[in-house]
Amino acid sequence: MFFEKSWLICAVMVPVLLIAVIFLPPPVYLIGAIIAFATGWIASGTGEMVVEEAVNKPMNQPSGQRPITTRVVLTERKMPDNIPADLKCPSCGGDIKPTDKKCAFCGSSLVPLLDLPEPAKLGGLETGKTVRVVHPRKGPQDYQVSRRLLFTELWQASRGPQVPWTPTGNYFAGFGLEPAAYLLNWQDRFYLLDERRALTDMDINRDFAQYAQKFAQSNQTARVEFSYDGERWKMVDIGRFAIEFEEGEGSHLHKGAVGRFIHAASGNRALVIDDFQSGGQGGQDTLWRGFLIIESDITF
Ligand SMILES: [Zn+2]
Repeated sequence: MFFEKSWLICAVMVPVLLIAVIFLPPPVYLIGAIIAFATGWIASGTGEMVVEEAVNKPMNQPSGQRPITTRVVLTERKMPDNIPADLKCPSCGGDIKPTDKKCAFCGSSLVPLLDLPEPAKLGGLETGKTVRVVHPRKGPQDYQVSRRLLFTELWQASRGPQVPWTPTGNYFAGFGLEPAAYLLNWQDRFYLLDERRALTDMDINRDFAQYAQKFAQSNQTARVEFSYDGERWKMVDIGRFAIEFEEGEGSHLHKGAVGRFIHAASGNRALVIDDFQSGGQGGQDTLWRGFLIIESDITF
């Protein structure tokens, strides 16, 4: 009797399941597709000024996990389409730059063509100027500023892929120097970096991603150390930036490029890794190595 009842249930269930498999999925998929389409439509229809979306490289996630989308919302800044290369001071005719608020020759006040925010530090250091930096090993060195970068610091109000990264309101400056070096200020840290290496996403994932992830998960409070190229490094800071403006020779970065950074230290030795968001207006992923210096080591 028991077996007969089981077989009866089975005989009823098989056709029911078959009918369900054959007839139910199309409407279910259709409804799902409509919901997905509508959600996507609403998400793309918000009044954000600049939204850049790109597939995140797995720096902050365990390997094998599906990549998530990072949203970055930047402040829209009016930029002239063409910046004349030969701007002259209306008072003395001297050469001026589009960002100059004051003529370098006669000292008269100017209305800058590009009204950029001031970086937190080193605001007066401009391309073409000479800067003296006390190199921890070589002593005082004179460098020529060949490039200037203005970075926008980004942050997330809370963690998660749906939370956009937005400007904190802090701007920091970086300077390409001749002979080849890079001077960078980030928050209260100053770096003189004189070794440069191009990185691939593979290099970053292999050598740094797991440590950056560990540091991120601790809210940047854990002591995270790693070995790289014969030195032992300690994580100092990780974060995200956008390039607000760039001027000077040998430019390989573009305005609006978004990336992540890793700052690590080994005594007064410093490691700075720039990992640009792939796709669109990116930049070359770069590793810089050099020294942590103090503000008073920089004179111009
Ligand atoms: Zn002038």
